[in-house]
Amino acid sequence: NTQVSSMANTPDVADLKKENGQAELNETNGDEDIDLSDANTTLVIHPGSDSIKIGFAKDETPMVIPACVAVPKSDLLGEVSNQESKRNPYGRQQPADFEELKSDIQQSFKERMRFYKRKVQPNAHEQVVTFNKQSKPEYMEEKNDFNRINWITTPDRRYYGKDALRCSKDHFIVRRPFVKGGSFNIESSDYRSLQDLLGDVTGLLEYTLGSQHFELKPSQFSQYKLVLVIPDLFEKSHLETFIGCLITELQFQAVAIIQESLATCYGAGISTSTCVVNIGATQTRIACVDEGTVLENSAITLDYGSDDITRLFAIFLLQSDFPYQDWDIESAHGWLLAQELKKNYITFQDANVTVQLYNFIKRVPGKKAEKYDFKVFDEVMLAPLSLFYPEIVEQLQSESSPKVSNTKLQDQLPVSRDIFTDNLNDWRSMSQAECLNGELYCGVQDDFQTLCKVLDSQSKVEESQTENITVADTRKNYAPLEKAVVQSITNASLFLDIAKMAPFYSNILVCGGGSKIPALDFILTDRINIWRPRLLSQNSFPTFYKKLAKQIKDLKAAGKNSEGKTSALPEEDQSQEKVNDIIQKEFQKYMETIEAQGNGDHTLPVSVLPPPRDMDPAMLVWKGASVLAQIKLVEELYLTGTDWDIHGSRILQYKCIFTY
Ligand code: ADP
Repeated sequence: NTQVSSMANTPDVADLKKENGQAELNETNGDEDIDLSDANTTLVIHPGSDSIKIGFAKDETPMVIPACVAVPKSDLLGEVSNQESKRNPYGRQQPADFEELKSDIQQSFKERMRFYKRKVQPNAHEQVVTFNKQSKPEYMEEKNDFNRINWITTPDRRYYGKDALRCSKDHFIVRRPFVKGGSFNIESSDYRSLQDLLGDVTGLLEYTLGSQHFELKPSQFSQYKLVLVIPDLFEKSHLETFIGCLITELQFQAVAIIQESLATCYGAGISTSTCVVNIGATQTRIACVDEGTVLENSAITLDYGSDDITRLFAIFLLQSDFPYQDWDIESAHGWLLAQELKKNYITFQDANVTVQLYNFIKRVPGKKAEKYDFKVFDEVMLAPLSLFYPEIVEQLQSESSPKVSNTKLQDQLPVSRDIFTDNLNDWRSMSQAECLNGELYCGVQDDFQTLCKVLDSQSKVEESQTENITVADTRKNYAPLEKAVVQSITNASLFLDIAKMAPFYSNILVCGGGSKIPALDFILTDRINIWRPRLLSQNSFPTFYKKLAKQIKDLKAAGKNSEGKTSALPEEDQSQEKVNDIIQKEFQKYMETIEAQGNGDHTLPVSVLPPPRDMDPAMLVWKGASVLAQIKLVEELYLTGTDWDIHGSRILQYKCIFTY
């Protein structure tokens, strides 16, 4: 079994417990009646920002519940910020900065088409605009609109999941309790308190588990165990609050956690070194996984996702005189249409980017549906290209996000700190920090500089581990996707084994609902090949790097041992000088061999893997967690209600397959 073998190197949880005198934890505390080995009574939950995937461990696929709750406006009157006061930034009129960034993307699109020898009609855009301007609606009788939506306009109670999506924003405030793949949405001004937010979380779970498929009453939750998927760069305070809520409030028997990227590998049945790229609704997350471990320094969270592509696509359509000019993308009906159009039409398949004729149905609550024809051209590719040009998303988000944030909630759920030193103690990734500081490997033109940067990284991470971090970094990460992948793989390999670059590059596993763009694998491969620095692309680089690193290490060791030598320079400088010499010399020698190889293919192959066996990429993570739920290892990972009562969150240190 590939999954089980991939766990070979994970710490032995039983040993850990023994060491800490907790061997009899479950046996002595009234948990005897819990059958940890019975997967029939296990539920698997993967909370996403867009939807919660939830199912019995033995289900083939999970139920997908939109992670939102519609609350009647009258319930919240005056207590939360008024959403209407926010300016709608998603119209066709955009500031000059936006237009400039759009034209960069257009340029890139044209270059790509030229490279693949695709003809672009010079007047394609004009054809689209002329057609769209003249497009007239065809009114539809209600009985002929088979996909009509029964809008909910009576704010009589709260609605959850799919129903919440049908609630009109004139009468409801639609709240999303999760962001960032499982953290709580504590920035939203729609919540009065943490309790209010947790109420949405428990409400959503009770609603879902009470539905036809599960038919579980809250009183039955105590017969079930949970496997919960958490982000790779999880936030301890959020996770602990969530587990506390699942165990104490909802009374589940036990909870086991697994990180998202590891779950993805389980889901795909891959046990070799893999770089996982998960394109979600609001975020895109990258991490390298090796031998059942998510490598901390490789994890990256990018603050853009598929919902941003939806918004951009809608704006680009409006700018091409889309026949629905008063389209309010943020309204419930407007957003549903935008999502539908995005799912149906965006593509990276360059053969399909010609002037195309499609149609859509405008459905506004309380009005007759209208059917329109419309034409599109490059919009279908420009919008998803923002994954590689996310500056435009940054620009758009800066225009739209409210300037006020919810300080009350943030105070109620502060970042986790070490109890002894008071330093922040969440996972910290060097790749993430480098993205935020703009210190990317991609974009360094000079091979020698690339080498120096790579050599520096090792010492930098050692430094950063001893560094005391006291203030949370709240900056957002808008590094382009392909560059972030290179950053993640390079750092993962540097800290593990530089030879791992080859398997990481040949196993880039793309998942998440946002990855469902035709030919994404193709363009991502191209973009990585374009941007990966020449030096880091060489097949022979790992061998060269290993040899050089060893030489440097030996020199430094020799420098430390040589005592009493007379020289004008202090010892440290002397040995540094020698190190610099050797780097220069070896580099030159190496470059000569590269040049001598000529243009033969000596690069590390990049290969982006599609999800296996026609599996839905949005379900892959859940699938992996359901695999974990059915193997023996999971028994070691369950923390029970009694564990939680006695030990609190400290128990997580003994019940995780990673360093908590
Ligand atoms: P999360 O984990 O954040 O909940 P998911 O992995 O479920 O996110 O992905 C949801 C996102 O994927 C949404 O933005 C949705 O619009 C997008 N999506 C779903 N299906 C498609 C599709 N066929 N084509 C493009 N995007 C899609």
